[in-house]
Formats: sequence, C-alpha cells, structure tokens
Amino acid sequence: MRTRIIDFHTHLGDIFHENKNISFKAPQHLPKYKDPFKELGEGGYRAPLIADDPDALNTLIDAGQFRIWEKGSLQSVREEIERNRMDYMVSLPVLPNTSFEETLAASKLEPKILPFTSPDFSLPVKEMQEKLREDIRMGARGLKLHPILQNVKLTDKRTYAAVEVFGDLKLPVTAHCGVNDYYKPGSPYQNIAPKEYGALHYMLALIERYPQYILIPAHAGGECGKEYLELADAVRKHKWKHVYTDTSFKGTEVIKELVELIGEDKILFGTDYPFGEAESSIALCKEAFSGKEDAADKVFYRNAAALLGIMA
Ligand SMILES: [Zn+2]
Repeated sequence: MRTRIIDFHTHLGDIFHENKNISFKAPQHLPKYKDPFKELGEGGYRAPLIADDPDALNTLIDAGQFRIWEKGSLQSVREEIERNRMDYMVSLPVLPNTSFEETLAASKLEPKILPFTSPDFSLPVKEMQEKLREDIRMGARGLKLHPILQNVKLTDKRTYAAVEVFGDLKLPVTAHCGVNDYYKPGSPYQNIAPKEYGALHYMLALIERYPQYILIPAHAGGECGKEYLELADAVRKHKWKHVYTDTSFKGTEVIKELVELIGEDKILFGTDYPFGEAESSIALCKEAFSGKEDAADKVFYRNAAALLGIMA
C-alpha cells in the first residue's frame, strides 16, 4: 500500500526577508553551491544541523537562503508534492516576511497545501487577535510562531494572546524551537532578535501555561543535537497530553527514541521544506517504523489528519 503522507512542517516564499515576493514567480536557478542541508539528508541526519564552527554555520546560512530562492515558489512546492507523492503539506508563514494571505492564495491554486497563519505583532493585541480569528474563518488550520524571526518571545504577553485564539478552539499551534542564527555576521538583518529566543525552555514555559492546548515544538525541540531529550523529559514529568513534535532533521535512531519517549501518537512527519530533504526524510522515517505499518501510518498521516480535521 502507498504510504499516505502529510508533511507537517513546510514553508512557501522567503521567510527570511520582508517584501521579497517569490511565491508566485518562477524558481530561480543559481550556480552550484555547497549545500550542508543536502549532505545531512544524504547522511541520514545523523549529525545535528547546527554545528559550532563559524565557517560551517555561514555556509549553512547561505545554503538556506539559496534553497529558499530555488525552491520557495509555489511551482517548486507543487513539484515537491508530486515527486514525493504527498497527500498534504502544512504551509507555515512567518510574518513579517511571508503572510497568511500568500499561503491561502497558494492553497487555492494547490489544494494539497494546508495554510497556517502567523500573528501580526505590528498590530495592537486586540486587532492582532481579531485578524487571527478572521484568518481562521478564511481557512487557517493552525498557528505558526517563530520567536527569532518575529523577535517576540514565546513567553511574551502578545504570544499568549495569539496562542489563546487557537488553543481555545482546539486548533494546533507550532513554534520554531532551536538556538540558531538565520543571518551571517555583517548582515543588516543580523540580531533583529537574539537566537536564544529559540531556546526550548521558552516553549516549555508556554506549554506549562497551557497544558490543555495542542502545542507543537518544531524539530523535536531544536537542531543542535539533544534537545529532544529535554523535551521528552518535560513531557513525561508533567504528563502533558497534548504536546506533539515533528521529525524535521531527525534520523532513524532519534525517531525511534522519540517513539519510546513520547509515543507514536505524538509524532508528526515533517521536513521543514525547503530546508529538509523530503526523499531522505521519508526513507528514514519509513526505516524507523519498518515492520510497524500502523505506527508508520500514524506518524506519516493519521496523527496530523486528526489535528487538522481531515478524515483519516
Ligand atoms: Zn521551519
């Protein structure tokens, strides 16, 4: 039987730059560049994405930007869906750089795209909440938060206000977790927010405040190596029932460990497209569940379908 797939973590457009409208343009063709994202995928995501070496980090940051320009358009997203025979892609905008409207428009052109929205922190809190409610009426399936790119901590009152709109409706909220830079030293964008805003403890504090909400720390808590253990510890200690995570940048061994630690019902397949490599991510996740068809179908499809209100 064909593996049903919902990719719970993908992006459309340039999530790093405001007003770089690439979503509806033809993909760019760039000269060949060193691509650690590709190498990591081909290596089975055995190494952490974020290394300490500054040169390696700069190469990674460059590659991330190049991948966006090459693969961030709707045309590329559709090709990716087709190539990997995906059923759905959850598409996560990050204001002020990419918007719900952009993602919603893409979902009308490609119904396999499921749009999330992002809080507009430039608005007064009440207006921000009203806009989010309007987005839900328009078709937003959940909320994406990015504390580093948005420069708002997960423990900020404005974050709470946005999260409550979705949590009270039992709609999923996912947040970037991971202490990493998005811009190289000297970039005019550097230090809009400190990378420490991505530290897992902020997310854990958010979950502690709202244990009844569906909250999804992305990347199993981070991309530096062992954050998933800290996340799993907290989930077990507090007996949180509504915390999920995605498998982006995780190899077979970590996925298996996560199943042991937080259970197959709480894991969502995700690639972090355009940064993750779908082909290897799918293969690794299948390998982690070899001989366990039912658990594989949960992680690839049913867990996400339940959160998104899709009939499984
Ligand atoms: Zn992402």
